[in-house]
Amino acid sequence: MTFTTIKKEEGINMISLTLAEIAKATAGQIINCEHPEAVFNNISTDTRQIKSGDLFIALRGERYDAHQFLEKAVQQGAGALLIDQKKRSDLPCVLVQDTRIALGLLASYVRQQIGRLKCAAITGSNGKTTTKELLSAILCCHTGNNENVLATAGNFNNDIGLPLTLLRLTEKTRYAVVELGANHLGEIAYTAQLTKPDVALINNVMPAHLEGFGSLQGVAQAKGEIWSSLGDTGIAVVNLDSDFASEYLTQLKKLNRQVFTFSKESEKAHVSASNIIFSSLGKASFRLNVMLNRDPQAISIQLNLAGLHNVSNALAAATMALALGCNLKDIQAGLGLVQQVEGRVDSRELNKLVTLIDDTYNANPASVKVAIDLLQQYASSHLLVLGDMAELGDFSEHEHFLIGEYAAQKGIQTLITFGKLTFKTYQAFKQAGQGEALHFADKKQLNAYLENRLLEQKNKLTILVKGSRGSKMEEVVNFIKQAA
Ligand code: ATP
Ligand code: MG
Repeated sequence: MTFTTIKKEEGINMISLTLAEIAKATAGQIINCEHPEAVFNNISTDTRQIKSGDLFIALRGERYDAHQFLEKAVQQGAGALLIDQKKRSDLPCVLVQDTRIALGLLASYVRQQIGRLKCAAITGSNGKTTTKELLSAILCCHTGNNENVLATAGNFNNDIGLPLTLLRLTEKTRYAVVELGANHLGEIAYTAQLTKPDVALINNVMPAHLEGFGSLQGVAQAKGEIWSSLGDTGIAVVNLDSDFASEYLTQLKKLNRQVFTFSKESEKAHVSASNIIFSSLGKASFRLNVMLNRDPQAISIQLNLAGLHNVSNALAAATMALALGCNLKDIQAGLGLVQQVEGRVDSRELNKLVTLIDDTYNANPASVKVAIDLLQQYASSHLLVLGDMAELGDFSEHEHFLIGEYAAQKGIQTLITFGKLTFKTYQAFKQAGQGEALHFADKKQLNAYLENRLLEQKNKLTILVKGSRGSKMEEVVNFIKQAA
């Protein structure tokens, strides 16, 4: 069986609901409609994707307001509109106070309609998407059928993306694996309460989106909102390697929720790893140890993913899978199916001398540190190319400085920084006096340097490129690929 990742939305196939049910679920009022028993099973929020007969939900965003496109929605064949009270149309409409809230209510209603469904919700600062892919693969092996498992598409993890994911639940879905992201307090509380997970995970708490949370404690509190969404029989999955583990365990004790723990460092956890080894491309294999109900079990795991952080993600996925009733064979098979996603520690040999690790998807202090840990493992010379890390607010200068110190401490030979904020990283690395450091404010100059460097290269070299989305460091990766 091959595991396929669900691609981005192309309109949403929903379970069949009448307009009357939709209005009831969204606390809306039906107008212009003689047949409230008319059935809808397709939803669209984008006029470019509407199919004939769809229910069009007009969302208001920061940059757009879909209420501006109602005429287009009608022309494209929408069967009914879900809109707020400020707008009118001649089509059958469900009028609501706020279409974003209505979308959530509808998703929550659909989630309640699916009988045998079990939901797993994943939050954390890093590794949500990877852990989601790993758990989905295990569940596909467990059920023997991709159709039984619904996973968040791409990164649809916010107050719009999560309800759109739940709306894709069908009668066949037995497991849903959803990613919950947040950049402000209250966001996880909202999406988690719509999901009503049977199993919930906080993968880790690290300095990401500090701008919105104010402090690391703020990040921990925001992620902790997920626990209150667990029902009486729900299971919380706690990462014992996190500095916030004991805080969460206390919180869960008060809530009287069952807890499964995992750790890559401590054998005290229900699920742990030993004998961790890495291939020449950094891919991890290890022994997965399970201690549940006083019954010790173990199995060997071979990942296609690089880095110690992915061992942690695999342990998280395995622990959730055990909480959902999977066995060790399902876990072994599922974890082995997931391939490296482009831009996330994607390691490949470009030629006999040069290995390139493309980690340009995004960057925050913790993910840069795990990338440095990974680079340091390679038995070659190391070239680290870093772009700016965004959204760090008042912590920005300090965090950029710490990364420079960390890279020096880990013995990285050459650091190349690009952008504005990384000037601090460059300074810190230089101050440490360990290796060679260069800073570029211009990507063309950076690329020209890399081209020369690759031409002169005589020994084995591993290059790691990383930066926040805005730094577009994939442009540097593409350049290196064609220059090597
Ligand atoms: P986002 O918040 O953007 O949705 P995410 O939490 O879904 O991110 P992934 O997409 O799985 O995370 O991974 C993004 C990057 O985070 C990876 O390329 C890697 O650098 C880093 N990362 C992944 N897992 C971990 C982890 N367990 N600890 C630290 N860093 C990690
Ligand atoms: Mg993600």
